Amino acid sequence: MTQTPREKPIHVPMDQFRSEAGELLVGGIPLERLATRIGQTPFYAYDRSLLTQRANALRAALPDGIKLHYAMKANPMPAVVQHMAKLVDGIDVASARELQVALDSGADPREISFAGPGKRHDELRQAVAAGILINIESFREVAELGAIRQATGWPVRVAVRVNPDFELKSSGMKMGGGPKQFGVDAEQVPDLLAEIGKQGLAFEGFHLFAGSQNLRPEAIVEAQRKSFELALKLAEHAPSPVRFLNLGGGFGIPYFPGEQRLDITSIADNLAAIQREAAAKMPDAEIVIELGRYLVGEAGIYVCKVVDRKVSRGHTYLVTDGGLHHHLSASGNFGQVIRKNYPVCIGNRMGQPADDAVSVVGPLCTPLDLLADRMELPHAQPGDYVVVYQSGAYGATASPRGFLSHPDLVEVLV
Ligand SMILES: *Cc1c(COP(=O)(O)O)cnc(C)c1O
Repeated sequence: MTQTPREKPIHVPMDQFRSEAGELLVGGIPLERLATRIGQTPFYAYDRSLLTQRANALRAALPDGIKLHYAMKANPMPAVVQHMAKLVDGIDVASARELQVALDSGADPREISFAGPGKRHDELRQAVAAGILINIESFREVAELGAIRQATGWPVRVAVRVNPDFELKSSGMKMGGGPKQFGVDAEQVPDLLAEIGKQGLAFEGFHLFAGSQNLRPEAIVEAQRKSFELALKLAEHAPSPVRFLNLGGGFGIPYFPGEQRLDITSIADNLAAIQREAAAKMPDAEIVIELGRYLVGEAGIYVCKVVDRKVSRGHTYLVTDGGLHHHLSASGNFGQVIRKNYPVCIGNRMGQPADDAVSVVGPLCTPLDLLADRMELPHAQPGDYVVVYQSGAYGATASPRGFLSHPDLVEVLV
């Protein structure tokens, strides 16, 4: 047996961003010009035309009638949420503060839903007052919402977030199956539904979210099919017909060498099949998928500046003014088991030969502050721009920005 030599896996080309005269373009603006306009590095820049393109392409691929929601915790920048609100059918929020941003964006409260374990009493009251859909995740929430209904007389719109009895296979982050703090175990849902009826809450449907960052369409197809079947079973116990069925999402984007962009053809076909079956078995139900990262992740970059270039025992370090405190996930410390490099470029040396093996680090006094480990990049000097791609989701607000008290980042939508 001969073994074919395995090629080193590489990053999928980041061809959503163009470059011109050696400079990366963001929203058509050359990077240096943009940085000057912003007045500082580090910054995150999100390209609005890429946000629009992604949402429109997804809608074109999905069957008509499938509702698309934006899970705004992926990127809650108000300008981004406002832009997304025009492109999707609804917004999913995870806190009362996100709710305010969603309402400010002009999203219809009827199309806003609220999920998250540990919703506080004041948050529940705010949600009821806003008239949004609350995804219930515990018996306590039912009791508190019953009391809020009694006290205010306002309708309380609810769906049940179900912790399914299966897991999303090969998901980056599992959020359903087994014991979980999210949702209510499928086997407890019939009792919860009875309680919802007793409290006079307006039951609208089910929410199932099995996990995040999945790049295997067959796993997503299977999770959505199983979610639908579970919802059909649970609907037998519901106090009223299901009008809203949120099948989650979990669509991933390629971050690491060897990963490919998700092909959503089979997912769209499967949703069409579910839709046909739902028309017969759950005729009042609107089917929703909710996505965060897939909608916004590829449209954003993180940009920092090289401050120093050092050689230590033969290894070259580019020390930048940005790092882990702004971009925890690129440093590998946000859920990764084995650290791998995000795609990175030198934004003012596009097209130059990548023949310099370097590590890109930040200014923090910790070895965890690593943006790229032993990567081949064009030869960079102080003043050059390090760009981290795939940074539109879980960046600025998912990072410990106070850690070491360095200057804060800026976010722009271009
Ligand atoms: C975080 C979250 C999402 C978004 O996940 P992505 O991987 O960003 O698409 C969707 N739904 C719920 C309930 C979530 O908690």
